Order: sequence, then structure tokens, then C-alpha cells
Amino acid sequence: MDEIEVGERLGATPRVLRRDGHGRIECPDSPQLAQWFPRPAGWVEAVADWLERRRLAILAAASVTALLAFVFLRVGVPWVAERIAAEMPRAVEAEISRQAVALLERAHLAPSRLPEARRRVLRQRFARLVEGEPRHADMRLHFARAPGLGANALALPDGRIYVTDELVALAADDEEILAVLAHEAGHHVHRHGMRQAIESSSVLLVVGLAFGDVSGSSLAVALPTVLLSSGYSRGHEREADAYAVALLERRGIPPQAFARIMRGLAAEHGESAGAIGYLSTHPPTAERIKAAEGARRGPAGQD
Ligand SMILES: [Zn+2]
Repeated sequence: MDEIEVGERLGATPRVLRRDGHGRIECPDSPQLAQWFPRPAGWVEAVADWLERRRLAILAAASVTALLAFVFLRVGVPWVAERIAAEMPRAVEAEISRQAVALLERAHLAPSRLPEARRRVLRQRFARLVEGEPRHADMRLHFARAPGLGANALALPDGRIYVTDELVALAADDEEILAVLAHEAGHHVHRHGMRQAIESSSVLLVVGLAFGDVSGSSLAVALPTVLLSSGYSRGHEREADAYAVALLERRGIPPQAFARIMRGLAAEHGESAGAIGYLSTHPPTAERIKAAEGARRGPAGQD
């Protein structure tokens, strides 16, 4: 009898009796087991046993666990991601961006056909736009043709901002292009790309932990893909929009330019997100247009 080890009670599940090297027996729980194998009464075990026999307690515990997981993913992970992103070494930002650009070039981007003079003008106007802004020294404007993506722009964690020939063609004037670039600069200033990639991969990590399938290497491989595929959250888009509107106002560019180009983009892409939804519908375009139009009118008070 001394060599038999009796498993703990767990609700109404069968009890397990084990003897080293001799196999195991599963049997329904019975008061006799307590008589034959008396155990020292531990209060933790007693409380656990009491809880495990109450459906309501099980339901409550499951709900609290689900709620905690939800709060952790919604509040905890973004909080942690913001702090990790702020401390991320530049070499990591550069490497993830390099890999993301390699993926993009293979799938979506072709060399720009914009004349060099036009690129120079836009680069100069962009440099003046972000002059003196946080992290502006990293920001560099790149041009590319993207037949599959159409009019689009995106910011990479290392400060590269891509604008497509299609977007330059769609814009009615340079102020509309600058409005989009101001929005992308907002993503860079707030480190949205890196934060989003960390947040998305944290979800993978948490799911991996829950199901016992985690490896750091698979996470590192996934990061550039996650960066491109997850897009930004609505919160990040709103933050980038607000940054853009404020920056445009400070530079004397009417924020209504942002509303105009958003309308043009919505007409081209429809309400559904493109392959890379950087400028797409998070939050819904109509709401963003309204927010930009509602911004303080231009410096002279006119439209
Ligand atoms: Zn955006």
C-alpha cells in the first residue's frame, strides 16, 4: 500500500492509482480511497477540491481567466510593446526593415518612373515638413512603382517612408502628397510599425505558450512578415492622423488636403483594405475625412 501513489481529486474525474514500474489504475472516486490512503489534510488542497466540485466556481474561474487574458492582450501587451519599441536597438529596426523591403520588392514594388527632378522637389518639401520633428533625422523618402498596391504609402521602422508613383499621380497637388507623408511620419514618430509587430507577435507568443509551441527563432522569422501583414490598429491610425493634422497646421498647410487625398484613396481602393492596408480603412475612411475636415481651418481662415 505504501508504494501506491494516489493522484489528487479533480472534480468528478477518475482517480489515478500509480505504482512505480507496475502501471496504473483509473477508477471512479470513492470515500473508500480516502480511508485506504489517508493523506495529511492540506488546506490548499481542501479549498481546491471544494472549488472543483462547484460548477459556478469553475465557470467563474474560467471567466476570470478569459477576462485576464483579454485585458492582458488589450492593455498589457500594447503597454509593454510601446516600451520595448522605444528601447529597440537601431540595428534591429534596420534589419527588420531590410527584410520587409526585400519581401515588398519581390512581391509589390518596382523601380519608380518619376523623373529625378520631381523626386528632388518632393524630397525637399518632405524634409522641410518634418524638420525639427522627433526622430526626423531617420526619415528618408523613397519612391517606387506598385501596380498591385496602387496609390499607397508606408513607413518602415527604420524611418524609410515609401510613396508609390500611383499615389503621386493620384494627388491633385503636392499638399495632398505632403498630407499623406505627414501621416506616415506620424507612424514613424510613434513607432507604430515596431509596436504593431511586437503586439501581433506577442499574441502568437501567448497562444504558443498556451499550447506549448514556442520558439524564439520562428518568432524572429515571423517578425518582418507580421510587420507587413498586420497593418496598424485603429488607435494607431487615429494617432497618426492627429499627428498629421497638427503638423500640417504648424507648417501652414490646410489639413483639408488630407481629407481630399483620403477621399481620392477611398475612391480608388473602395472601402476594403488593399494588400497592405496602410492607408486603408482603419478607422473607416469617412470618419477620418470628417476628422481632418473638422480640424481648424488654414491660417488665413479660408478653406
Ligand atoms: Zn496609417
